[in-house]
Amino acid sequence: MKILLVEDDAMIGDALQYSLIMQQYAVDWVQDGASALLALKNQHYDVVLLDLGLPEMDGVDVLRSLRQSGNATPVVIVSARDEVASRIAGLDLGADDYVLKPFEVDELSARIRAVVRRKSGHANSVLENGNLSLNLVTRVALVGGVEVRLSAREYAMLEALLIRPGAILSRQDLEDRIYQWGQEVESNAIEFLLHGLRKKIGAESIKNIRGLGWMVSKQS
Ligand code: CA
Repeated sequence: MKILLVEDDAMIGDALQYSLIMQQYAVDWVQDGASALLALKNQHYDVVLLDLGLPEMDGVDVLRSLRQSGNATPVVIVSARDEVASRIAGLDLGADDYVLKPFEVDELSARIRAVVRRKSGHANSVLENGNLSLNLVTRVALVGGVEVRLSAREYAMLEALLIRPGAILSRQDLEDRIYQWGQEVESNAIEFLLHGLRKKIGAESIKNIRGLGWMVSKQS
């Protein structure tokens, strides 16, 4: 799962990015509103963690501008502003949740999962499709009821494909969802990961759509 972290405080940002990476998220971190909007214009993120007190452009203005541009990426406001008015303003502007600083990373992580699940139309934390099942909390993947061990990147790839069965993801889409800024992506990295993943979950599980990318067919 790919997160955009918008946080101007270097200490909080650094600690939070580290904790989230430890929880297997890919995290890009920006420190101001303009950079956040630029990143969101150019890339897919599963969720945005948005601080409100930012230099120049306030978090509320970032959110307003994002929604006005038609971008529906889930946004969780992470702020020390605890007045009810500022929470209501954030939610009214299209934020999906509001977490008060200080917070436990585990709680934030649970809220991230809940928001992403709601937006993608899943009722619970287990993505199921045909004989595949992926638990977003325990990160356990089952094929025909049998657990298979996936590397962190294989997991990220399967999650990206299973969250929206039937959607075709291009190489760039997959790279965006698996890697964060500064991570070098070798030219055949995606094929290499796909090869490993298919070996573990069955070659027929992931379809290659020539010239477009890859998908998991929607099954009941
Ligand atoms: Ca701040």
